[in-house]
Amino acid sequence: MTRKLLSLAFFFALSFTLFAQSDEELVKATVQKNTIKGHIYFLASDELRGRETGSAEIDIAARYLSTTLQRYGVAPVPGAREGYFQDVPLVQVLAPSSYSFSLGNTSLTSEQLIRVEGAGIQAKADIVYVGHGSEEDFADKKLKGKIVIALAGTESASDLRTVFMESEKKAERAKKAEALGLVELHTESPENWSQISRYLRGSSYQIQKPEEASSSSFFKLWVKDDSKTLAKSLLSKKRQLADIAISETVRIPVPSKNVVGMVEGTDPELKNEFVIYSAHYDHIGVGKANAEGDSIFNGARDNAIGVVTVLSVAESLAKNPTKRSALFILFTAEEKGLWGSRYYAENPLLPLNQMVYCFNSDNGGYNDTSVATIVGLGRTTAEKHIKKASETFGLTAIDDPAGEQGLFDRSDNVNFAKKGIPAPTFSLGFTAFDAEIMKYYHQQADNPESVDYEYLEKFFRAYVLSSRLIANDPETPFWVEGDKYYPVGVELYKNK
Ligand SMILES: [Zn+2]
Repeated sequence: MTRKLLSLAFFFALSFTLFAQSDEELVKATVQKNTIKGHIYFLASDELRGRETGSAEIDIAARYLSTTLQRYGVAPVPGAREGYFQDVPLVQVLAPSSYSFSLGNTSLTSEQLIRVEGAGIQAKADIVYVGHGSEEDFADKKLKGKIVIALAGTESASDLRTVFMESEKKAERAKKAEALGLVELHTESPENWSQISRYLRGSSYQIQKPEEASSSSFFKLWVKDDSKTLAKSLLSKKRQLADIAISETVRIPVPSKNVVGMVEGTDPELKNEFVIYSAHYDHIGVGKANAEGDSIFNGARDNAIGVVTVLSVAESLAKNPTKRSALFILFTAEEKGLWGSRYYAENPLLPLNQMVYCFNSDNGGYNDTSVATIVGLGRTTAEKHIKKASETFGLTAIDDPAGEQGLFDRSDNVNFAKKGIPAPTFSLGFTAFDAEIMKYYHQQADNPESVDYEYLEKFFRAYVLSSRLIANDPETPFWVEGDKYYPVGVELYKNK
């Protein structure tokens, strides 16, 4: 062989390796410790003050995410604001702050009252006592325009579960009879009472609906009556009037947004199928200081790390696309009740039946750096790819070890699973929900300095390689037969 031929052969060999880089090599080329570290140190920095939904700082995080996607060459999504945002019209609903109730001449104190339902009400009406308020107790009574008073629970049971369940039924009966409201007399322990009170006085979140009013006419009040004085007085008197007043609920708009981006696939057929790569980018903000004087919940594990799995796959796919297309979604308001993902699943920017897989990442913490924990690993046919990819980088993929925590149904993936889209959650390695996890889970200590970046490099590489294998597989991933979401999946894709 001449020298010239030899160098030509060498050139071809070299170009072959250059142009046919394996998925493994492609992953190693972009997923690197320093890049990962930079993202996490920014997203979980004190300056972003725990990325609480509605805060000014979470908007800075959102801007960082959209510009990072742009920098990687990730394309805008049709219909998204500025190409990379989906506004989520969230509102915080504050329970009415003041309410009063008096029966005859007796005014009850606020410690004795818990408002469960109703807002913007002021009325005076006759009361009707219905004992424990069973179906029979309600049967022969004229209740229209009156206030129904019942004992909590049933004749035979007064445990909290029964109390809550029966309360719903009594309220239904009272509504059906067109009563003004329902008052229940309770004999809970002081501990139970204050816990219930705290829970029901708190605020909740909702997606804004245009028709929502700040008052609702039916009310339900719980009254503390340990000594049963009220119950006794009700039995002794024939007719009594009651006065009720409940202030209005207050709705505060909470501006929030999902961040999105996409990469078109390379295969003329398979590019019509998308894999969603998702994670929530919000956390729980600022709270009480711990013993070290730290009041910022930085959320490095939860969920800056999940966000960086998505950024890592976005960089890899923007530079070297897979056969299937990719949709990246970074959710807002997970910590407020999975609102960002719920809103997206109800208002998708691209048709849901083209989304063949949702590869979510959410994290509480880790206690085993030899594994990656995939909540729902065995529930989809992509299990083999995730196992192989993890092994490639020295990790063992294991399924959710803490079934009792119901983790599959506690993260954003569930809103896609409910629609039929196979959707596991890729998480840092944990073999139990133990004290090591609780040390950081929703704690001020969840800082970027406390994370093992050697492990993270393997972890992110395992996620990105899994993604590439799933998105290049000619066979479309699906739920395994017998899974709870299998039938809704069949339904979703039947007219694809
Ligand atoms: Zn969380």
